[in-house]
Amino acid sequence: MRVIRLAGRLLPMLTLVLTLLSACDRADQGKAEITPDSGDRPYQASLVVFGTLVEITISGASPEQAAASVRRIETVFQKRHHDWHPWQPGLLADINQAFSNGHCHPADKETLELIRLAKRISAQSRGAFNPAIGKLIALWGFHDDEPQAGRPPPAPQAISALLATHPQMSDVHIKDGKVCSDNPAVALDLGGIAKGQAVDVAMQMLADHGIHNAIVNAGGDLRVRGRVGKGSHARAWRVGVRHPVSGGVLAEIDASGDEAIFTSGNYERFNEYEGVRYAHIIDPASGWPVHDINSATVILNNGAAADAWATALVVAGTQAARTLATRAGLTQVLLVNEAGEIWVSKAMMPRLHLDADASKIHVF
Ligand code: ADP
Ligand code: MG
Repeated sequence: MRVIRLAGRLLPMLTLVLTLLSACDRADQGKAEITPDSGDRPYQASLVVFGTLVEITISGASPEQAAASVRRIETVFQKRHHDWHPWQPGLLADINQAFSNGHCHPADKETLELIRLAKRISAQSRGAFNPAIGKLIALWGFHDDEPQAGRPPPAPQAISALLATHPQMSDVHIKDGKVCSDNPAVALDLGGIAKGQAVDVAMQMLADHGIHNAIVNAGGDLRVRGRVGKGSHARAWRVGVRHPVSGGVLAEIDASGDEAIFTSGNYERFNEYEGVRYAHIIDPASGWPVHDINSATVILNNGAAADAWATALVVAGTQAARTLATRAGLTQVLLVNEAGEIWVSKAMMPRLHLDADASKIHVF
């Protein structure tokens, strides 16, 4: 398995390596994998944003056109990496500082849009997705360039003290191009949604440059557009979803048109202390890292929403996740839990090539 989490959570510089896919073997790319069509030679570029290797695969465009688009995307990624960094100086740090001083802070249209979406999904998920808990995530030691491995969990009193401040997205308001918080304890951490937004922006920029057949894959979280291959050989992109425990391929999905496939889980970023794993996804109700669901995969036509919902479902746990998904109209959901159960939504089931024991599979 290629290591997609690079040293530290976030690299200070973006690197850009342009390569042409010479062979068409299955590309092994983290949570999900892509199999390009063997009759085609897609253009592939890799860059790093939010500490994740982002691979952009383009079919049916000239290498010059593809390279120019990727260069523009890199510039935007660089800006967003700085703006939305959860703990380094930048726009988000300024916003959080303003919140704690009881002030509003101006933000650009795209940042405000992302916060609006985060508010909506936070409300719909009944607070399971809650990017207002930045202070809690920091307390668990996940706001660190080089998180100390094997650190003990925080003192329970420190957790309860933060929970008592009730940071919620309903405290956050947007008016006149500014973002404000009624609650000084709110600190935004967009780690559960920003990658999705970055993937959306990249795909939109490709479309703006006339590229309509591509995959933007951020460490296994990806957005697909169009198809791969030419003419009558064109076919869907095949995406593999990784098994959260074994690391093998759990399921394959054929994706075409415009789809974002995002997976969140407790298996990739965690701290292990005295044999217990503490995931980087925190249940805002208890203040403790999630358990129960190992991974949640959501398919939507919007990367940011798919990203946020995948995080929300992991927090909610197997039972509540199914209820939330149904209520929110998420039709394409795949959950794997610690009991080894695989829960698949009805509409997802027929398009999934699952490599699993049938007795473990449940449809909802
Ligand atoms: P990944 O980055 O592995 O794809 P996620 O999309 O689930 O995983 O994002 C996890 C990140 O979301 C955490 O690192 C943290 O920044 C943030 N986060 C943690 N708990 C929550 C929560 N309950 N709601 C919203 N964001 C969260
Ligand atoms: Mg997420």
